[in-house]
Amino acid sequence: MTADGGFGMGDLNFVVEFMLVQPGMVEGVLAAHTRSDNGDCAGCGGVQGVKWPCVHYSCARAAASWCDRHADVTPLRG
Ligand SMILES: [Zn+2]
Repeated sequence: MTADGGFGMGDLNFVVEFMLVQPGMVEGVLAAHTRSDNGDCAGCGGVQGVKWPCVHYSCARAAASWCDRHADVTPLRG
């Protein structure tokens, strides 16, 4: 948790790492958690809605950018 009660990406590193080792998960999350016309996340849904970008999208983006920055490293993918 950060001082303002939100989540910093440092707290989500384990989620990013989890996504990185799940084959196709990053791509799947990015494909599902898109911005809908009302500004909510289409993938999260729910009655109240979740503003996009949601935490899932943010983590997937972080995982994807990690791959971009470490293109020389063999991904731990199936
Ligand atoms: Zn979402």
